[in-house]
Amino acid sequence: MKFSKRSLAVKPSATVKVSNKAKQMIADGIDVINLGIGEPDFQTPDSIDQAAIEAINSGKASFYTPASGLSALKDAISQRIKADFDVFYSPDNISVTNGAKMALYTLMQVLVDEGDEVLIPKPGWVSYEQQIVLAGANPVMVSTNDEFKITEETLNEAVTKNTRLLIINSPQNPTGTIYTKEELTAIGNWAIMHNIMIIADDIYGSLVYNGAEFTSLIQLDDNIVAQTILVNGLSKSYSMTGWRIGYIAAAPEIISKVNAILSHSTSNPAAVSQYASIAALTGDQSVVEQMRLAFEDRLNKIYPLLQDVPGFNMAVKPQGAFYMFPNVEEAVRIAGLSSSSELVEKLLDEAHVATVDGAAFGLPGYLRLSYAASLDNLIEAVSRINEYMQSFT
Ligand code: PLP
Repeated sequence: MKFSKRSLAVKPSATVKVSNKAKQMIADGIDVINLGIGEPDFQTPDSIDQAAIEAINSGKASFYTPASGLSALKDAISQRIKADFDVFYSPDNISVTNGAKMALYTLMQVLVDEGDEVLIPKPGWVSYEQQIVLAGANPVMVSTNDEFKITEETLNEAVTKNTRLLIINSPQNPTGTIYTKEELTAIGNWAIMHNIMIIADDIYGSLVYNGAEFTSLIQLDDNIVAQTILVNGLSKSYSMTGWRIGYIAAAPEIISKVNAILSHSTSNPAAVSQYASIAALTGDQSVVEQMRLAFEDRLNKIYPLLQDVPGFNMAVKPQGAFYMFPNVEEAVRIAGLSSSSELVEKLLDEAHVATVDGAAFGLPGYLRLSYAASLDNLIEAVSRINEYMQSFT
């Protein structure tokens, strides 16, 4: 069998791999706590479910919608952005996609060619790199400082004449880092100076804790906004990962290219999910706040416990998203192992806790633990990890 160069180049998602192994162990009756996952553990709020049920019962959900989404949903997105950030995107500048993942995938297809380079922060979300590879371009990881932030200095080290795009993800998966307004302004001006477009992946924008403030690139000055393509979605803020709704807000010439590709690839995101999303975006937003508060409480309780685990070092407390990203180089040494990937395996096989190796995000020597799990499970998981590590001391 001959396979395409693209399919041979692409690597399966490491986060999905760990999660699948953990799910298989659970199916085999093993009591595994899965902290490898990247999705909220809450049911989608009932009001949103009800809107979907109504769409089905009324027959509206039976048919194709426009490839780039229902105009009522684009209106709802436009109004939500206006209400949250006081920035107006016309519905014509919005395209609805099958999750933010498809938004990012399609943007890569639209914006880069072979030989082009795309800058991604290290560590960064697992799919950026592979989506860039699938578009034939080259991912270039940009080093970050002690707070896991890229800076003008590290960008200068990474930029070449082939650089076309920069991805900013704030709050950041896997570290929970949030960029300040000043930092984003410096990065935005740097991008303008080098004529590089920025994709702002704001998927965790509503999950910000302990008084930290989230600024989106789209709130900065007009020149930076013109340089920015916004990607967001409903998966994380409304606990709607399974519904697969994301979106792009950008200049019309980008949106029309995106829409052409969507019309030949997905046709449209599931109609029922689009109706549910209209209800989510236009309905009572206190559901978002309730989930945010639950994540904040978990972070505040679990962060100090994890810091007490021998060999787990986490100098900076995460400010957003729902992940912790401790350095475990010392833990690897204490346990007599050779890498963080071995530690992930041992934690799964012996402590029955699923985590993800930092290498999946470009930074070996770290682990990603998701706190999208019940507080009881989180406390139990950290205690199991602690017990495993204590066995060596
Ligand atoms: N961007 C980041 C940083 C993510 O972590 C994820 C999901 O894990 C996505 C985008 C894609 O989210 P979805 O496709 O569910 O909207």
